[in-house]
Amino acid sequence: MRTFSELKEAVLQCRLCPLAETRGKVVFGAGDEDADVMLVGEAPGRHEDQQGVPFVGQAGRLLDQTLDQVGLKREEIFIANVLKCRPPENRDPRKEEIDACRPYLDEQIELIGPRVLVPMGNFALNLFSTKRASISKMHGKSLAYRGMAVIPIYHPAAVLYNRSLEPVLVDDFRKIVDYLASNAEVAPDPEQMSLF
Ligand code: URA
Repeated sequence: MRTFSELKEAVLQCRLCPLAETRGKVVFGAGDEDADVMLVGEAPGRHEDQQGVPFVGQAGRLLDQTLDQVGLKREEIFIANVLKCRPPENRDPRKEEIDACRPYLDEQIELIGPRVLVPMGNFALNLFSTKRASISKMHGKSLAYRGMAVIPIYHPAAVLYNRSLEPVLVDDFRKIVDYLASNAEVAPDPEQMSLF
């Protein structure tokens, strides 16, 4: 298995899909390599593509505010994305791009070994689900994936678009914090676990 910095080096050089032609910077992900909580967004936007850092635009500001409200710090979690490169004009990720990029995320998850995996939005949620799952149904639930708890939440950009979801996002983040405090080994709900 590669080390974290070997993996990062490989991802920064990646040319496995056509997004390598149009990207500015690769956004590997950022935060604590030993984090208990790993957030997974969709793909870099314009600001992330310029800076090489996840969630630094408007959605990132909302994410920071929300983390602050529940007492989490960016430096103590890890933030990654389904895609490491920006799709042109922020279009949706394509299946072949997701498939090409997925092994990098799997390796990040393996190396970090978080207690809680937090998919933000439908694209991230569906990486961990064998059935088509919708974030509007699944947000805030406790699921399980390879021995880790999975607590899906709305994507911050969706919350910017629909501000009535703001308290829902905070509430779901509180569930993550409560789970961390609970010392539970893995997600508790067997019915939901069958989804994975
Ligand atoms: N939206 C995402 O899904 N990821 C980012 O890094 C920024 C915005």
